[in-house]
Formats: sequence, C-alpha cells, structure tokens
Amino acid sequence: MNTVPSRKDILTDKLMQAAMAARELYRRGKAYGPDANISFMLDGRVYITRRDCPLRRTGTKDFACVTASGKPMNNVPACDELPLHLEMYRKHSDVGAVIHAHSTYATIWSCLGEDIPAHTAHLQNWADKIYLLENHGAIIGGKDVMDALWGLCQLEESAKLAWIFREGTL
Ligand SMILES: [Zn+2]
Repeated sequence: MNTVPSRKDILTDKLMQAAMAARELYRRGKAYGPDANISFMLDGRVYITRRDCPLRRTGTKDFACVTASGKPMNNVPACDELPLHLEMYRKHSDVGAVIHAHSTYATIWSCLGEDIPAHTAHLQNWADKIYLLENHGAIIGGKDVMDALWGLCQLEESAKLAWIFREGTL
C-alpha cells in the first residue's frame, strides 16, 4: 500500500530544502552572512528566512511563517525584505519560491541600471521572473526552491560573463 505524505511531512521537506539552498548560496559564494533571503509558499502561507539569518548554518527553525499579505503566523521575525518576496508571489501565480541576493555581478548590473545580456543557455526560463533592484541586487522566482536557486546561479553566471565581455577582464 502506498502512503501519502502528510502536510507536516511536506512542510518539513520544503523547510529542509530551503535551509539547504540557503547554505548552498553561501557555499557557492553568492551570498555572505545574512545578506540573502529565501522563501517558499505552501498552502497559502509564505515561509521565509528570519531576520539576520546566518546563511552558512541555516536550519529548518530559521524560517518565519506569514500569510500572503505578510501577517505573522509564528514567533520568528521575517527578514526585512519580506515585501519584495510577497510582491513576487502576487505578480506570478506560478511562482512557488523566491530568492533575493546581492550576488556580486548581478549587483554590478543593478547599480549600472542596465539589463544583463543573457549569456547562459537556460536563463530565459526565468526571464519574466527576474528583477534587478536599483543599486541593490536581484530577486528571482522559481517553481520551487531548487528551481529558484538554479535560476539565481544562471543569472549570476550570465552577469559575470557579460561583465567580462564588456570589460575584457575579470
Ligand atoms: Zn537586499
């Protein structure tokens, strides 16, 4: 007989995946300290890394839970960039997870105020769900946390390649 995973099991899996993605952002050098944030949506609730979350050792307890309008549903304070995440969910009904980061090369382009030329094969998969924030960094929406993480890595690689093409040096 097949067993159907409970909602609690699904939430635990998603929290583990999001915590792993946070640590992966740090490990891959896309973020440092608490300067990136990750969220996912499940059953109308948004789970997002807490304020000052240390990405290097993010665990499943490092997530605030809020409603789609931002009302707190647990005692964990959400990161300050929660409104950016909620806006992404409002704009894109097919987005199940969001990552915001100040990764180096995407942030360079956000400070230039120019779009990043797409130099990696798959970046167009996220094209309408990537936003460069003026003088700040990038935010990307994906189907789930791993999709958003992969998209952010593609974005940063494109941003780096475009910068090298433009400047002729690393
Ligand atoms: Zn930011």
